Amino acid sequence: MLEATNLFFNKAADHLGLSDRLRTILLTPKRVVRVEIITESDDKELLHHIGFRVQHNEARGPMKGGLRYHPSMDEDHAAGLASLMTWKTAVVNIPYGGAKGGINCDPSKLSETELNRITTTFVGLVKDFIGPTIDIPAPDVNTNPKVMGWIMDEYSRFNGFSPAVVTGKPVDLFGSLGRDEATGRGVMYTLEECLKRQGKSLADVTVAIQGFGNVGSHASRLIAEQGGRIVAVSDISGGIANEQGLDIPGLLDWVAEHGVVAGFPGAEAIDGGAVLTCKADVLIPAALEEAITESNVDAVQAGIVVEAANGPTTPAAHDILHQRGVTVIPDILANAGGVTASYFEWSQNIQQFRWELDRVVRELDLVMRRAYGDVADLAEKENLDLRTAAFVLAIKRVARAGASRHTVSHHLPQGLLQD
Ligand code: NAD
Repeated sequence: MLEATNLFFNKAADHLGLSDRLRTILLTPKRVVRVEIITESDDKELLHHIGFRVQHNEARGPMKGGLRYHPSMDEDHAAGLASLMTWKTAVVNIPYGGAKGGINCDPSKLSETELNRITTTFVGLVKDFIGPTIDIPAPDVNTNPKVMGWIMDEYSRFNGFSPAVVTGKPVDLFGSLGRDEATGRGVMYTLEECLKRQGKSLADVTVAIQGFGNVGSHASRLIAEQGGRIVAVSDISGGIANEQGLDIPGLLDWVAEHGVVAGFPGAEAIDGGAVLTCKADVLIPAALEEAITESNVDAVQAGIVVEAANGPTTPAAHDILHQRGVTVIPDILANAGGVTASYFEWSQNIQQFRWELDRVVRELDLVMRRAYGDVADLAEKENLDLRTAAFVLAIKRVARAGASRHTVSHHLPQGLLQD
């Protein structure tokens, strides 16, 4: 993850003519926190976990990023995702830096009370490094509004009422309306903007989606509502397809009842991997990292790939897609709707004011479509792919903000100072 993020960064840095020293400064995390979490299981066994928080950059504002509970979570993984957050918040131009963290654990093997103890112990250990003006965590893989509520509660025990310390909270506990669907909504907006530039609309395309969790399910629903035909979907249980278009409201009910997409009536069962290579105009990887690699990229048939997941395309696969003329809407743009709605939640918490859902949707629409336009215009002007253009735009914003905080602007190359 870290290696891939650095490769994409360096491609944009080459375009900007950045010195090695500036690259090092921009890539080095500001702070890395590693803590040992010792708790007791429900049957009084000792539990031992390691937690991480990598705080990458705060030039443009407090650091922001998810907390992931996963057996693969380690410092490198958190560092790659933290860096990605710095560039993502800059692309959509919201006043944040980037961070990421998590706990190396397998939540499927822990009870809710064990997860609660691990989470609150973690908060006690990192409480001096996070805060509404320092670093604001949010949900990521295997964490959810409930976990965010526990974090708010524990942090507030030490610091007084502090809803703005974390976002993605339950709506009943200072969360924002519209936050749960915001990433999927942002995916839909960026795809719509991309199609507009090709003289098309969502109603003109067929779509395949890998992953039917928070992001994949909301993206499917919203795209289908605009007339898009979802022809294949997969999750951990396998894939399902229907050339005429899947009944998405029916599938949402099915998954609410059965937990997975497998077995959904009115669809053909296919291999999970086949969703990535099936016949569809648009492919939306919305599951995990490294879904499109050198081993399957040649079989991808879609003309547009929307990276709803973080890091779903390896750098080698990205180059091959680009050479073939496939448009890739990069993760730091396509899935930025989530962090943007988190920004709205944080703003509401600070003001102690609640927005109605239509305001959240309106503001999200504005931010996401403007960001797509900024990136696509730059790509066109400087003959870049969308990912490199997004990184170029983000690096300019972060480097300028960082330099403006000190007396070092004269160290920035001309390319960074020009719009
Ligand atoms: P989630 O846990 O709700 O859903 C993940 C989905 O992927 C599930 O349906 C799961 O069954 C499926 N899946 C897992 N392995 C798979 C495989 N091998 N093949 C097919 N499907 C598989 O997670 P989410 O919140 O929807 O996040 C998905 C991705 O989007 C992650 O990369 C996450 O970092 C990224 N993301 C999420 C948000 C957000 O707001 N939730 C914001 C930005 C980025």
